[in-house]
This record gives sequence, C-alpha cells and structure tokens, in this order.
Amino acid sequence: MARYTEAVCRLCRREGQKLFLKGDRCFSDKCSIDRRAYAPGQHGQGRKKLSEYGIQSREKQKVRRYYGVLESQFRKYFAMAEKRSTGTPGENLLQILETRLDNVVYRMGMAMSRPEARQLVRHGHFTVNGKKVNIPSYLVKAGDVIALKDSSRSLEKFKAVIEANSSKPVAKWLDFDQNTLQGKVINLPERADVDLPVEEHLIVELYSK
Ligand code: SF4
Repeated sequence: MARYTEAVCRLCRREGQKLFLKGDRCFSDKCSIDRRAYAPGQHGQGRKKLSEYGIQSREKQKVRRYYGVLESQFRKYFAMAEKRSTGTPGENLLQILETRLDNVVYRMGMAMSRPEARQLVRHGHFTVNGKKVNIPSYLVKAGDVIALKDSSRSLEKFKAVIEANSSKPVAKWLDFDQNTLQGKVINLPERADVDLPVEEHLIVELYSK
C-alpha cells in the first residue's frame, strides 16, 4: 500500500503548524517546528504570497497530512461527503476522516500519534465488534466497539502508551475504558468535536472548481 515516506517533521514545517505526527516528541523541545518555524528547503525562509488556489490547496494538503491520507483516497472521501443527504460536504468530509479506525485508535489513547495508530492497526492489534480488523481506513459507525486484541494486552508497548495517555481526555464522541482496554463509538463526531484548526470550506471550494 502506498504511503508517505518523507521525514514527517518537514510536513509540519511545510504547513506552518504542528500536525502531531510523532507522539511525545511533538510536545517536547525537540519539535522541529518550534526550532525552525519556516518551510523546509532552500527557499523556505523566503516570503511567498499564495494565490486563492494556493491557499485552498494548502488547506487540503494540511488535512490530508493530519490524517495521513493519500490524494486519491482523499478525493474518494470528498465524493462520499458530497453524496450524503445531510450535513455540508466540508463537515461530512471531516466526519468521515475522524471515523477512520486508525484515527479512532489514536483518539482513544491507544497510540501516541495517527501514524503509529495506522501501523498498529495494520499489525492486527485491534478488533471491531469482536472481529479482527487490520484496515486503517475502516470506517467505524455509532455503536461499534473497538478493543485491543486479547493477545496484545500484555505487550509492554501498549501498557506504556495507555499509561502515557491516561490523563489525556478522550474525544467526547468516544468512550474508552482503560481497564477493559476497549471503547465504544457513542455517536458520530460533529464539527465541534473536531479540534483541528481546519477551514474545510476552502477544500470544498477547491474541489468545486
Ligand atoms: Fe510536527 Fe511532531 Fe515533528 Fe513537531 S515533532 S514538527 S509537531 S511531527
């Protein structure tokens, strides 16, 4: 499966904001964007005025990178978002992205970052409604139960992650029990539940051209 392999901190510097792709490091003084708050590359420090298209395109890239989604998949999500009979395309797009299984695992605190969650899902550590699911793009529904697989519960890796995230709040639309290591999708996320600095209308404008 195709995936982005460039050094991820460059992506944050390109977007000019933290995308939180490296777990604890993002909250430490080792964060690259705190030390070099300019775009990577030879001309990264030069000022550049973006066109309207450029602004819309950058917003789309930022959201893609938050969730680690390739362009083709992102377009498919937008097409799905447009087809929904309720909600706006922009809000629907964010809802679809939020309900990816890798994002849900991250939001529940079972991974330190979305890239890590994606890898853990691929390695088959989680079940949805009792069945193993190793597809990071699997879209969860209201009522679904996501759990760490029995055979993965004793792994030191998960003990450390759960401990590190124990004081962090879980997204309101999710429920997570640190004792049973399973969580439930209470309801699908609404726009107010997505705490990312995103102007989704710019993406809608971009794809509507
Ligand atoms: Fe982005 Fe995290 Fe790297 Fe900082 S440490 S630049 S937030 S991926």
